[in-house]
Amino acid sequence: MRIPLKLISGLAQISLLVVLAVIIWQLLHSPTNIPPDVYPYLNTISPSLVKQCVQENQKSPHIAYEDLLAIHSTIPKNEAQMLIDQLQDNITMSDLNWGMLPADTIKAIGRHREILREYSYYHPNKYTFPVAGTTWYEDSYGADREGGARRHEGTDLFGKEGTSIISSCGGKIEQLGWNRLGGERVGVRGDDGNYYYYAHLQYISPKLVKGERIEAGEFIGGMGHTGDALTTPDHLHFGIELPNGEWTNPYPFLAVWHMWEREEKS
Ligand SMILES: [Zn+2]
Repeated sequence: MRIPLKLISGLAQISLLVVLAVIIWQLLHSPTNIPPDVYPYLNTISPSLVKQCVQENQKSPHIAYEDLLAIHSTIPKNEAQMLIDQLQDNITMSDLNWGMLPADTIKAIGRHREILREYSYYHPNKYTFPVAGTTWYEDSYGADREGGARRHEGTDLFGKEGTSIISSCGGKIEQLGWNRLGGERVGVRGDDGNYYYYAHLQYISPKLVKGERIEAGEFIGGMGHTGDALTTPDHLHFGIELPNGEWTNPYPFLAVWHMWEREEKS
């Protein structure tokens, strides 16, 4: 039997369309790729360094804050000063005289500048500290939970029951209500693509609606001990899940956002 040529070409066309559709679907649904150097670098940045760069930026507004932070977070103060003196004389980053700095250090400053521009956690006052009231917390990310069955994927911020919890950033309310571990919890898909998780709330603000927008600083609910925190002191469990599905340590970011909040008050 001879198969007509038209049928073969028709089948080939259909197969090609199917393959293309599969490739496009995979591209749309593949987890976002986050370069492995991004979060390890961001986690090295301290509130005091951020504060220093904000102050330098206020004195010399023509030097980008991210450039100052990239320089200070990569090289010691005396070496940094040589570069910052040039920036103050209106020399641009691309025209700097790097002096004796090794090529890989210069490359690292450039890379850190790129990261700080793309990931704006440390950009002054862009994010809000989520507890509006007295709180204490430490870096407990990765600590054992349930006898080693799982790891702690966030920061616990302790305080008085009912202390106001507010949104750290603008975004869309993705989850709202009860779940077994989190108790009364709210999940916000931030404008930056991350998922911000607020758990163990005493109650959730009745004004919040799933699927609707929320702005940085907007009221989420009261601090509590619901879900698996039933027998523990009142605290907010705060988590950040990256667009690739991995949780990251929110502690370094919280420490900086908290500093901004305290600066505002003083
Ligand atoms: Zn927790």
